[in-house]
Amino acid sequence: MKKIFIPFFAFFIFTLFLSAQEANKEKYYSFIADSIVKSALTEQNGYRLLGELCKIGPRLSGSANSLKAIDWAKEKMKNLGFDSVWLQPVMVPHWERGNVESAVIISSNKYKKKKLSIASLGGSVGTDLIKGITAEVIEIHSWKELSEKKNEVKDKIVFFNIPFDNSFPTTFPAYGKNVGYRVQGASEAAKHGAKGMILRSISSRNDNVPHVGVMHYTDSIPQIPAIAIGIKDADFLSEALNRELKLKLQLKLSCKTLPDAQSYNVIGELKGTEFPNEVIVIGGHFDSWDKGDGAHDDAAGCIQSLEVLDLFKRLHIKPKRTIRCVFFINEENGSRGGIAYGEYAAASNEKHLTAIESDRGAFTPVGFMVDKDSLSFAKISSWGKILERAGIHWVKQGGSGVDVSYIKNAKCLIGYVPDSQRYFDYHHSANDVFSEINPREFELGSAAMAVLVYLIDREGL
Ligand SMILES: [Zn+2]
Repeated sequence: MKKIFIPFFAFFIFTLFLSAQEANKEKYYSFIADSIVKSALTEQNGYRLLGELCKIGPRLSGSANSLKAIDWAKEKMKNLGFDSVWLQPVMVPHWERGNVESAVIISSNKYKKKKLSIASLGGSVGTDLIKGITAEVIEIHSWKELSEKKNEVKDKIVFFNIPFDNSFPTTFPAYGKNVGYRVQGASEAAKHGAKGMILRSISSRNDNVPHVGVMHYTDSIPQIPAIAIGIKDADFLSEALNRELKLKLQLKLSCKTLPDAQSYNVIGELKGTEFPNEVIVIGGHFDSWDKGDGAHDDAAGCIQSLEVLDLFKRLHIKPKRTIRCVFFINEENGSRGGIAYGEYAAASNEKHLTAIESDRGAFTPVGFMVDKDSLSFAKISSWGKILERAGIHWVKQGGSGVDVSYIKNAKCLIGYVPDSQRYFDYHHSANDVFSEINPREFELGSAAMAVLVYLIDREGL
């Protein structure tokens, strides 16, 4: 009896000791989380930096502006006192909009010379700038309808008029439903002899601002010009077509693709004090479309990532593991920055523990998506109470981010998820400017990511 009792008693005391230690740890981590949140929200250093970056203007891959912004970022990381800062060279696609983009109704008496609010889609070919392209317009609402009307499409401009689906509680599924028309629409229409393609902007806002984004041509199918139209003018055009079936439009576009250009990922890190070879990546994409400032998409995600490192410095937290901030170039129209970093990670002998991406706007934090590794997911989920102090309500399994998805050897990948309701009001449009960033929402996002990075740094994965 005695023999059994002593080991049992020792085990009981040891368990008590462990749970007391765990409780103390949670208390301490909660204190750190509160300090991070307070520092982010009251000091707003990231928000100020975001303002500076947005003043440089949009950062389309290959543009002179993007290189200016890359220089700015490198200098900022150095000035903030990161342990190492470097540029990773990447060749990127170079597409330019140019100064001419117009779509004018020419054949209707009622609407003659009415100029529509449009913008070329990224990657589109241009037109002759004197004659342009003049053709009748055919309105299409689905792939099925395109296939049913394929014999009516020849020599016309196909107008994909598919409204943003507001039946989902979050907005990304609605974007997912329509984005295929933007990416493949021109080639699908050209297959049947179309001369041009118009896309109703994928936007949740009731204004007339065109929302752009990348489109691709399928090899062996003729390349036709592709544009986005503001949603008020999409409704207007639809109504005009109802009244006059033979209505004609003239398109003039100066956009063109130039040879690939030299660009760079911007990388800065704080070296780990105990496990320098274990790397936690945090980042966003540094390129944007050429409308607005690309403030939400994705200057915000980059500066939040940078602020994670800056918060560690401001609060004198020395990371055990290496925390690396990566501004990936060219996510919008090529992902070359993500691919290049993924190749670097595969070739290096560092151990990539995880990579976290912020690329869903600077809105109120709601959750983290964890990709693949179920043990990492369980561990991160167990930190729910601490993450909640920075506004995080859930941790789910699911997709992370486009750029980090190329880091194939990371143990797990994580996507930061803020509230999505207003993201597609701004996305890829002139609406996406710094004045539309709410400093509290933005800073709480920085804090949420910093708390997560802190926990991963202390506990591993
Ligand atoms: Zn983005």
